[in-house]
Parts: sequence; structure tokens; C-alpha cells
Amino acid sequence: MAPNQTAGLVCAHHHLYSALARGMPAPPRTPTGFLEILQLVWWRLDLALDTDTIEWSAKLGALEALERGCTSIVDHHESPHAIEGSLSVIADACAEVGVRVNCAYGVTDRHGPEGAAAGLAENERFLADGGRGMVGLHAAFTCEPDTIAAAAEIARRHGVGVHVHVAEGEADTRWPALRDHTADDWWLVHGVHLPDDHGLAGTIVHNPRSNMNNAVGYARPRRFTANAVGLGTDGIGADMLDEFRVAFVRGREHDVTLTPDEVWDWLDAGYRLFPEARTDRVTWDYSPMDPWRLAYSPGVSPIRVEIDGEVVLDRGVATRVDADEIRHKAADAAQRLFARLENMT
Ligand SMILES: [Zn+2]
Repeated sequence: MAPNQTAGLVCAHHHLYSALARGMPAPPRTPTGFLEILQLVWWRLDLALDTDTIEWSAKLGALEALERGCTSIVDHHESPHAIEGSLSVIADACAEVGVRVNCAYGVTDRHGPEGAAAGLAENERFLADGGRGMVGLHAAFTCEPDTIAAAAEIARRHGVGVHVHVAEGEADTRWPALRDHTADDWWLVHGVHLPDDHGLAGTIVHNPRSNMNNAVGYARPRRFTANAVGLGTDGIGADMLDEFRVAFVRGREHDVTLTPDEVWDWLDAGYRLFPEARTDRVTWDYSPMDPWRLAYSPGVSPIRVEIDGEVVLDRGVATRVDADEIRHKAADAAQRLFARLENMT
């Protein structure tokens, strides 16, 4: 590999459905903590999603990932009023742009047992149809024990893990309910409030920018020595070089001995789900692509991206899709989404 090249970067935790959220109407009142951020912002947005807005948010999110050298996305999706088929809409949108995606529907009991059953069924349907994914759970604190057990069972049957938010905020006191189910292929997101000896198996995905944005605290991911640690954006884009820089500086604020090499290694966890992304080639406008330099170099951008041998970004421009058209249609879809949010009580 040339010094101005890297493998394809992987976003180990994304919410493509949030790509249209920027510019959304303000919540009915200012959230004062993590739980209210969920209740007043994200759990209103997911209710407003329909198939059309899911499709355009996924296309825009995939395009923006590609434009930042991210070739593979681990997505976690929720759209309570448009569950059936939603994972295929996301998978098709990413395939059109040329970016890989691992899909999961975030099952929850927030909308009663029927809502949980529909979410489980969508995960099952997608995996049974040969879709690339995991079984999603929102979080232990919004799921009944039977729902968690059912998700774990579907995942085992399909030979995949469960993708679940864990101890993101102090409100999630029920994460120990996951202890009886986790396995090495589980995808445990955040872990901010986990004790060091949490006893959960799986990869822990750190999302430093999102955690700061929600004021949930610092996860101190270096302490998770029994787990692989990955790096995600939690839906705030898929610029993994930028997330790496945020992860580094957030880590240094806590412990000045942290090195850029250690943080760069967190990007490797995504290759457990996307081993072929190691053979993707991203050519950057900077050389050499060394973690110690990148930690202090803003604005490094990809010039060319090859995925599975196909050039999908050339001179910074997507080759398979019309980027301007996606941005325009996504902006129109966002207006429809915002109108629904305005009319929500
Ligand atoms: Zn998340």
C-alpha cells in the first residue's frame, strides 16, 4: 500500500436514519439529560420516518460515508411506523451508492408487545432472505426480558450477533439482563456506565462525539481489556478520520499517555464484520497516513476509493450515483420529515 493509502474505513455504529435530522425543528422543550434527549428528539424522529425518508436518509448517509473514505457501515435502525421491509430499503440504498452495510432493526418494547414482535420479525425476515446483518435491540432498559431472549435466539439461529446499546446513560440500569445472553459476536454500543468487570462478551463500540453531545460521560474504553474496542459515530456522519481525532483528544483529556496508535487500532474492530474492507483502497490527499500525523491534521480527504476492486469515488466524486441529485432529493425528503415533526403533538 502506498503511504497515501489506507484500507477502507469502517463505521462500527451508525444510525443512517438520522442523516436527515440536521436542521430538524427544535424539540417541544429543551432536553435536560440523556433520557429526555431520547424522548424529545430521537424517539419523535423515528416515529416520523416512513419508507421514503428511510430510503433518502440511507442514500445520503452512504454517500457521505463514501466521500469520507468509509466503505462499510454497521447500522442500527428504528422506524416504529415503518418496520416491515425497512432493513431491505437501507441495504438497497447503500448498495446503490456502492457502500457495504450491516443492518439491524432496534427492537424495543416502547410500543408494546406488538411493536417488539414486529421488530423481531423484521430482523428475522431480513436475515432469512440472506441480508447482511445482526439482530438489533434498542437497549436492555426499553426491552422486556422475553424480548431480549427472543433476539438472542434469532441471532444464534442465523449465526450472527446482537447489536445493542449498553449503559449509554445512567438511565440504563437494566444492562445486566444481557449477561445471560451475550457472546463474542455481540456488538455492545457505548458501555459508558459499565463497570470494568461487567462480564459481557462482545465488541464494545466507543462513540466519543455522541457521548460528549449527550453529556453521558467518558467511556474510558482502554479499561475494557477483555473486549475488542471499536469506533462508531452513533449517527453523526461517518467521517472516521474525524471520529478518530475526537476519540484521541477526548482520551487524552482523560489520560495524557494515550497514543494515536492505540486509538487507530480501535478502527480495526470493524473488520471483524467486514473483513473484505481490508482490501479496499482509499487514496488520500495526504501522505503518509500515519496516526501520529493524522491525530493533528484536520481536513484530510479521500481522492479515490476502490471497493471490491471497483472505483466508486474518483477525484472525490461518487461514480455510481449522482451526488447532487441525492443531496437534492434528500433535502426534499427532509422537508417532508420536518413537516411531520411540526405536526406531532
Ligand atoms: Zn446508537
